[in-house]
Amino acid sequence: MLVLKFGGTSVGSVENMTNVKNIIKSGGKKVVVLSAMSGTTNILVALSENIRNGEVAEGNKTLDALYIKYNETINELLNQSDLKQEVGNYIDGVFDFLRSCLKETYSELLYNNIVSQGEFLSTFIFSRFLIQEGMNACLLPALDFMRIDRNKEPDNFYIRQNLNRIIDGIPPADIYITQGFICLDADGEMSNLERGGSDYTATIIGSVINAEEVQIWTDIDGFHNNDPRFVENTHAISDLSYDEAAELAYFGAKILHPQTVMPVRKFDIPVRLKNTMSPESYGTLITSKIHGEGIKAIAAKDAITAIKIKSARMLNAHGFLKKVFEIFEKYETPIDMITTSEIAISLTIDDDSHLESIVEELKKFALVEVDNNQSIVCLVGHSIIFHEDTHKLFQVLQDVNVRMISYGGSNNNISLLVHSDDKLETLRKVHNYVFN
Ligand code: ADP
Ligand code: ASP
Ligand code: MG
Repeated sequence: MLVLKFGGTSVGSVENMTNVKNIIKSGGKKVVVLSAMSGTTNILVALSENIRNGEVAEGNKTLDALYIKYNETINELLNQSDLKQEVGNYIDGVFDFLRSCLKETYSELLYNNIVSQGEFLSTFIFSRFLIQEGMNACLLPALDFMRIDRNKEPDNFYIRQNLNRIIDGIPPADIYITQGFICLDADGEMSNLERGGSDYTATIIGSVINAEEVQIWTDIDGFHNNDPRFVENTHAISDLSYDEAAELAYFGAKILHPQTVMPVRKFDIPVRLKNTMSPESYGTLITSKIHGEGIKAIAAKDAITAIKIKSARMLNAHGFLKKVFEIFEKYETPIDMITTSEIAISLTIDDDSHLESIVEELKKFALVEVDNNQSIVCLVGHSIIFHEDTHKLFQVLQDVNVRMISYGGSNNNISLLVHSDDKLETLRKVHNYVFN
């Protein structure tokens, strides 16, 4: 079986939904994972903010506009009156629920319930569209099998058992449609795999059903060698290894959720990135195979906090690193980059939710400086640190303000920390130097 995931743009208009239908109509049984229609999740996040701030009128206005958009979409997409009626009723139910949320007090659970509605809408609409087009499709409710554990990791045993049980218990279909992104938590409450999580849903499903391949269909012709939103003349990379793709996704390449390749790499299930609007383009194939060495792509991750920790006892203060790490461990805060000198450590974190407590504890035995608004610019490629051209990178660094550099932590990655104001310039300069 194949797993195909279609992102927001791919299901964001009638024209693109028709493209999706054409892509999936042949080629055997498949699971189709859908995101919310483009823009919807952002609007639902904004609605949650309205609730948090008591802005009921704003929230109602936002919902009115979104309601019109959904009704326009189904009017264009569906021509069978019974299906149109059924989908119209479903949309009404979702919007009644969202309006009722405006009377609630904000909580994380309320947020999770609100942001999940985009995927409920897109999958319901699309499944009825396929039925109208005479296809043998059925809807698999993600909440019946998709669950994370207390560490927010996919509960693979539960997912495998329940997904197989559900598929075995319903009449066979050619196309099983399900919601990306959403899941239950360990207590059975509504949760999600974080923004962009539909990619992760697809590879989790791919791993538990032992899929031949997972395909991520999006609005661009594959994984580019730099962020096309910020840098000109980028191009798609035809092949990436799991390691390379994982590093790029972790360090900010928006095309993939950071965890996407984790579930499938241990089973060697290929991940193919494809463009819904241009299905004939090759895209990118991610496998365990290594294709070429040296710098392959550049990505950047924003909203990084840099922390410089200076030992108050100065030289030979052994045990200092241990004490520092124990504090980050206590607050379950992962460290991304780290450099050390005899008397100080600089490190970066991207989750600053416990920053205040961490700094308070560090200050008991060290001098601490915190810099916000930092970005990590990450260069990735197999054996990048051994490649003969890589040392020339240091020439281009004369022109950019690098705050920290991490070289050799992994053979496949060199990371530079810069102020976020300098990110674009760094991305462009390094890109021109390396690829042009
Ligand atoms: P989807 O809604 O299909 O999940 P996303 O918006 O999450 O799509 O991801 C696709 C977008 O990621 C592209 O349109 C592009 O602007 C952006 N992007 C950022 N970095 C890269 C990269 N290295 N390669 C390709 N696309 C990238
Ligand atoms: N709709 C969700 C989001 O916008 C999940 C996804 O698109 O993958 O984050
Ligand atoms: Mg995405």
